Amino acid sequence: MAAPWALALLELQKIDLRIRDLNTRLTLLPKERRRIADAKAAIDAEVEHYRKKVKATELAIRQAESEVNTIEHSIQKLQQQSALVKKNAEYQTMMAEIAMSRKRIGELETTALEQYDQLEKQQEDLKRQTAEASARIRALKAEWMEFDQLEKEVRQEITTQQQSRTVAAGKIEKSLVERYDSLLKEGDTTPVSPITDGICGNCFLKLTPQTMTHARRGAVTECDHCRHLVYLEDL
Ligand SMILES: [Zn+2]
Repeated sequence: MAAPWALALLELQKIDLRIRDLNTRLTLLPKERRRIADAKAAIDAEVEHYRKKVKATELAIRQAESEVNTIEHSIQKLQQQSALVKKNAEYQTMMAEIAMSRKRIGELETTALEQYDQLEKQQEDLKRQTAEASARIRALKAEWMEFDQLEKEVRQEITTQQQSRTVAAGKIEKSLVERYDSLLKEGDTTPVSPITDGICGNCFLKLTPQTMTHARRGAVTECDHCRHLVYLEDL
């Protein structure tokens, strides 16, 4: 068994590593949320793309219909005028103009039929895309809510772990806790590490014989190289 000071610090370290892990999870959440928001924006943009296609075709059809109305109106006018015309040449010109206008209406109507077919297809595409999009958005919303729940749980656990930490730290001499805390603040490493075959568990360098003797006595020992606290698992 390890020395009592090491066992007490290991208990504290276990809590701190858990808190560190929980905090890391919290730092990942904004990125996850951004990913979900971006995915939703992409889906919205996709649906909008299909909606715009429908709107463009609807507009083209309305424009064609309006053009047909205008031409029909001008044909009516020409017909009224032609009844009053005396000269044959002038009459023929008017008739030719009417014939050309009718031809143009015919073309517009053919195009309109194609546009109606296109519109129907585009409306189906939009409907399908909207349905798919809402299913995907539902999944994203569920994922978002899972992250909300996860965050809540993580924050609750951090609070609980911090309470346990106060208790665990209270069992250890204040100056030793301070030493440990400064090592903990260094970052990703573990402040207290085991010695294996005379090697520090933190920096993996060989400890001096004096340090090994110190550790064998069960005294508070630090690595000659990285200054982390080191202990023997079996005294
Ligand atoms: Zn070391």
